[in-house]
Amino acid sequence: MYSVCKAVHNKYMKKGATHSQKTKKLLRDVISTLYKTDLTYRKRVSAATKKAMKKPDTLKKLSIARKGKPRMGDPANWKHTKATKEKLRISATLQNSQYWKNKRFSKKHRKQLSISHMGKASARKGVSLSKITRLKLSKSLTGRKMSAATKEKIRLGNTGKTVSKETCKKMREWHIKHPNKKFSNTKIEQKVASELERRGFIRNEDFFQNFGISEIKNVDFYLPKSNVIIECDGCFYHACPEHGNPNYHQSMSAIDVKNTILLEAAGYNVFRFWEHAINKDTRKCLKIIK
Ligand SMILES: [Zn+2]
Repeated sequence: MYSVCKAVHNKYMKKGATHSQKTKKLLRDVISTLYKTDLTYRKRVSAATKKAMKKPDTLKKLSIARKGKPRMGDPANWKHTKATKEKLRISATLQNSQYWKNKRFSKKHRKQLSISHMGKASARKGVSLSKITRLKLSKSLTGRKMSAATKEKIRLGNTGKTVSKETCKKMREWHIKHPNKKFSNTKIEQKVASELERRGFIRNEDFFQNFGISEIKNVDFYLPKSNVIIECDGCFYHACPEHGNPNYHQSMSAIDVKNTILLEAAGYNVFRFWEHAINKDTRKCLKIIK
C-alpha cells in the first residue's frame, strides 16, 4: 500500500513543491483511515527520528500521548521490555502457591508480623465453613496422631500461659453444656438408671442423667426432689484404689474430692459409687438413696 502511494506521489509531485493546507488535511485523513484499516501499513521512520524517539523525555511524551489508545502494530510483534518481563516473572511467582510452600519468614519479619497483628481479630474469624468442607476436614483429621516432638512443642508453648478467671469460667460452662459423649451413658450409668426406674423414679422428672450443675460440673445423675447427686466413677479413669493403674489418672481422685466439696458446699447431697461396686450389686449401692 505504501509503495503504491509513494509511486503516485512521485509521479504527480514536482520536486520541492509543497501541498496546500487543504491537501495536507486530506492526506492526513487518508493516512489515518488507512492506518486504522490496514494493520500491515507501517509508517517509515528515519534513523534520526528513531534516535530522537529513544530519548527518555520523548518516550515519556509518546507514552502520555498513547495512553488510552489501542496499541499500534501487529500483536504478534509486541514485545515486553526486559524490566516488564522481570515484573511479570515476579508476579507470576508470587501467585504460585508452590512458591510459598515451606517458605519461612525470618525471625525479625515474624516478630514484626506478630506486632502488627496484635489486638486485631484473626482474618479467618467469623468465617463459617460449608458443611462439605467441615466433613472433609473431619475426615482428614480423624485418626491423625501427633508425634511426641509436636506434643512436646505444644506443651512447651503452653507452659506458663495463664487463663483469666473469666475465660476459666467460660471454659467450665462450655464443658458443662458440651459433655464428653465418650464418657456419658456408660454401662454403669445405664445400670444405675435402670435401677432408679425399677424403683419408680421417672426419667427427666424424678431424676436427670448427665445434668449440668451451673458453674460446677456435669454430674451423672441429679435427683431434684431430694437434691441428691449420684456420681458413677469408673475404676480406671477415676483411679480406684483396688483396680486403678498407678500410672494413669492418679490426679483424678483429688479432682473428684474437690468437686464433691464444691457440690456439698452448694447444698447438694453427693453420693459416689465405684464401678466395681455398681457391677457387684446396684440395688445394694442405691439403698442409701431415698
Ligand atoms: Zn474398682
